[in-house]
Amino acid sequence: MQTFKSLWVCLDMHGCPNRCLHCWLGHGTNGRMVPDDLRFAAKAFRPFAQNLKISSWYREPEFADDYKALWVLETELSDKPEPHYALMSIWRAARDPDYIPWLASVGMDKCQLTLFGGEALTDKYTGRRGAYQDILRSIEQLKANGIAPRLQAFVNQETIHEMQHIDELITRYNIEYAFAHQGSCTGAGAALYPLWPTQATLAHMPPLLTELSLKHWQANSLTDIFGEPEAVLYDRLCNSHNTHSFVCDDPVFFVDRNWDVYPNLSAPAPQLHLGNLKRDSAQTIIEAYRSEISPAQAARRNIPLGEMIRACGNPVGQGLFVQDDYEEYILERYLNYTIS
Ligand code: SF4
Repeated sequence: MQTFKSLWVCLDMHGCPNRCLHCWLGHGTNGRMVPDDLRFAAKAFRPFAQNLKISSWYREPEFADDYKALWVLETELSDKPEPHYALMSIWRAARDPDYIPWLASVGMDKCQLTLFGGEALTDKYTGRRGAYQDILRSIEQLKANGIAPRLQAFVNQETIHEMQHIDELITRYNIEYAFAHQGSCTGAGAALYPLWPTQATLAHMPPLLTELSLKHWQANSLTDIFGEPEAVLYDRLCNSHNTHSFVCDDPVFFVDRNWDVYPNLSAPAPQLHLGNLKRDSAQTIIEAYRSEISPAQAARRNIPLGEMIRACGNPVGQGLFVQDDYEEYILERYLNYTIS
């Protein structure tokens, strides 16, 4: 069987302490997988990749108490050592004084923290009381350990009214890196569609967050970042014959706590299911991926984009999307619409 140039297999070993309203990965139940499970997944997929990478998480990094040992094990099981992602667990940082010094010790120099405005909105959108205060403490600890905080702000018609608060944090903590966007309207985030930012929303973006966002995205305007109104995309794409294959030579596979496997294309959900690693061989799962039998892959491969947009898009929608995100949103909506 043809091997992938690279394959990244991520296990959802412990899940996530948060339930963010914008979460494109959805709100699956947390699991409790063990290090031997990571070894099992690595052994199963190893014959099919020239370069295999194994991760113990795809939701919250270092949510597991044995995070240091898991980091070592990931490195042992992966073909090439990789730097730590610029992501952290603010939940752990608030409970484990060793954690942020440990992040510095593995080479982290920049780390992303997600805000939705001030305390009440950040706690509400993170789905956990205390999240905002955890973030403030993390900013201080990151700076004390030589790691630059990078603020990520999610903008919609509700959170925009507290974006000034992000400017205040940028000033208070002398933050160099920050960026805003609207996130993905898929997974749990699909429920935020009625609040999706419009051009009128962007008129309220505060100056410092705007300046750092343009720098982060290397954009000339907020329109470059947030995209076009849905009505414009609808009009341009509603007769498109475009189809697309998601198959590539360097896929990422998600393995959930029940061993169900999904390609990293959208929220792990039945419409992307490839198989179950305890019931099916890795070869069978890879064949399912390559032959695009999951409903989401098959729909995007065979159904013209315009047909899906005509079925599920809003010809007068004013919410802003970049085209790729709009295509993802439409595909998920189309599958929910045709399956229900
Ligand atoms: S967005 Fe990240 S932190 Fe929030 S619920 Fe999803 S996986 Fe967890």
